Amino acid sequence: MGNKMKILVAEDDPTTRIMLGGVLKKWGYEVVLARDGNEAWSILSSKETPNIALLDWEMPGLAGIEVCRRVRANLNSDDNYVYIILLTAKASKDDIVTGIEVGADDYIVKPFDPQELRVRIRAGQRIIELQSKLISARDELKFQATHDPLTGVYNRGAILERLEEELSRAVREGKSLTLAMIDIDHFKRINDTYGHKAGDIVLCEICHRVRSVLRVYDAIGRYGGEEFLVIIPGTNEWTGKSVCERIRRCIEEQEFFVLGKKIQITVSLGAVTSSTGINAEELIRAADKALYQAKANGRNRVEYANAI
Ligand SMILES: [Mg+2]
Repeated sequence: MGNKMKILVAEDDPTTRIMLGGVLKKWGYEVVLARDGNEAWSILSSKETPNIALLDWEMPGLAGIEVCRRVRANLNSDDNYVYIILLTAKASKDDIVTGIEVGADDYIVKPFDPQELRVRIRAGQRIIELQSKLISARDELKFQATHDPLTGVYNRGAILERLEEELSRAVREGKSLTLAMIDIDHFKRINDTYGHKAGDIVLCEICHRVRSVLRVYDAIGRYGGEEFLVIIPGTNEWTGKSVCERIRRCIEEQEFFVLGKKIQITVSLGAVTSSTGINAEELIRAADKALYQAKANGRNRVEYANAI
């Protein structure tokens, strides 16, 4: 974690609040102060949440334990876990159990010893750091599971899943989408002539160029070896065609510079615009058929599937 760890101190007693703020700053933490429970909750429910919160049990407005309950009830809080330490003058076992039950991670009984506070905060810091490492690892795994390692675009599974999602969305919103299947013309010849390394570079460059003409909510995925699927939501046949034509042109208009060689590359596209009641499988079949037609009609062209 590159940034300074941020700690919220919510305490209604000014002397304790100022003292706590002072020692925490001295120990190198960034400190945010709150005078009561409502202020604490507004800080904890904002975007830049602190990593650790020291919440006084008894405060005007919301009690510390209530703030704690709300933080844990917030469904979006998993990715930035707040480590909560309750400060309490209560030391009965029942109170402590209640505090832990609503989701506090630890508690400190007042008046407290600064050294004890320091080690408790360090324990919290370790949990937070571990959590953030786990989240990065999880995100990394998720990326690997859904993306093609060579080109970085969606892999087959992920683009098909995206197609299902976009189709349901289109139905919900009463809109249509365009699906395009792209195939690189004579790709085998590129591999045979210049080697597989060159083939890989071409695949990456194709993805790069196609992405540059797509909008942020369009999606591209590798469907097979040199075949890609592009989902273009919110388009009808007319606008879909123009995007496909743009894709075809962005490949043709400039030669590829691969391993010191200039290569002319073109792609063929088969496209289809969704109509009511059509499913993903039928769309793919229609795009595939149109692609076959584009190849048969001489390549470097876009063919549109007839209304299905
Ligand atoms: Mg108090």
